[in-house]
Amino acid sequence: MNLSRSEELFEKSLKLMPGGVNSPVRSFGAVGGIPPFLARGQGAHVWDVDGNEYVDFLGSWGPLILGHANPIVVEAVQKAAADGTSFGAPTEKELQLAELITNALPSIEMMRLVSSGTEATMSAVRMARSYVGRSKIIKFNGNYHGHADGLLVKAGSGLATHGVPTSAGVPQSYAAETLVAEYNDISSVLELFAANINQVAAIIVEPVAGNMGIVPPNPGFLEALRKVTRDEGALLIFDEVISGFRVGLHGAQGLYGVTPDLTCLGKIIGGGLPVGAYGGREEIMRMAAPLGPTYQAGTLSGNPLAVSAGIACLTELGRPGIYERLDALGVLAEQGVRSAADATGTQVTVNRVGSAFTAFFAQSPIRDWSEAAGADTERYARYFHCLLEQGVYTAPSQFEAGFVSLAHTDADLDFAADKIRVALESQRD
Ligand SMILES: *Cc1c(COP(=O)(O)O)cnc(C)c1O
Repeated sequence: MNLSRSEELFEKSLKLMPGGVNSPVRSFGAVGGIPPFLARGQGAHVWDVDGNEYVDFLGSWGPLILGHANPIVVEAVQKAAADGTSFGAPTEKELQLAELITNALPSIEMMRLVSSGTEATMSAVRMARSYVGRSKIIKFNGNYHGHADGLLVKAGSGLATHGVPTSAGVPQSYAAETLVAEYNDISSVLELFAANINQVAAIIVEPVAGNMGIVPPNPGFLEALRKVTRDEGALLIFDEVISGFRVGLHGAQGLYGVTPDLTCLGKIIGGGLPVGAYGGREEIMRMAAPLGPTYQAGTLSGNPLAVSAGIACLTELGRPGIYERLDALGVLAEQGVRSAADATGTQVTVNRVGSAFTAFFAQSPIRDWSEAAGADTERYARYFHCLLEQGVYTAPSQFEAGFVSLAHTDADLDFAADKIRVALESQRD
């Protein structure tokens, strides 16, 4: 595969941006090598600057559930741009996107649009602390909630990939407000509550974990989180930045039937442009300025281009049969991996929820961070590069999700299954 132009660009980028990238996992640190610089995407396919074509299972890390350059989204953005790109004043479009979100997620009675998932979780935690009047929060080992200071503790893929368990630059005193429990282990949560009586404002959790690879909640786990937060006077925050509009139209909260107090959204709700949102019970959201004493703002919040893309995307997702189709494609992807693993005698554990999945190089079930961390990352790196060379673009880390979009065809999945078999075959030991 010729990557000469990418190599040239990467060399220049390394001088201008840390690691040559604007987000760490893009640098291929976990798998080695040069990241192809992408030039164009159409449907389920992307092309790099050297003209190599790939079937894409990264989907921009989750947002592109309709695929690249979906014509309806593109048209919405073009039309919006022609009417002005930003006002810093209320627009009807913001209301439309908010209505699409609250209709799909009834637990959100009142909400705010922001510009990233990081802003959403940071703001939701602030509202929770303000409403409950306590300062500690509980998060889970291997869950990632963006890069706000207090949430960069045991935060899964990006940090695990780079061997930074807790980011430097976060004051110890501040990190001490974050308590870490084990995913799918309710007793670890109960212990933290017992040791911090009347100090915990909220639990924040990925109801389907996506940042240690896909790890679904064990039956009863989310229900138990709901119960303990109620019993202890704390709030339950679902970080649905990945799972929202991915695992179903009603998110993980709809899929598992557990209602959080606050929900964080991002990725899909922007249709590929920068949008995040947080919201929940009106009583809590009324803490936000200008109604309440808790400050949160944004110059580009509710940006007309981003919101137009989000409206187009969520409108498409509201059509009948969409999630059935996504699930069927997810099943095909999973089968492709499983049959390739069987054919080559490779031990692989596949976790999948709808159209999001991870194939772990591991022999036993993956239910939490310690089990995920036991997967064979060197093997994954070889597998990754072999797929990339054959035109299949997957996440450059074992601890990430693969995503299927509505633009993937059965032929794309057959093609990928074939290449996966070759990749597993070539590195059999
Ligand atoms: C991606 C992600 C975030 C952060 O969103 P950004 O838009 O990257 O800031 C937060 N939570 C979860 C679960 C995510 O997957």
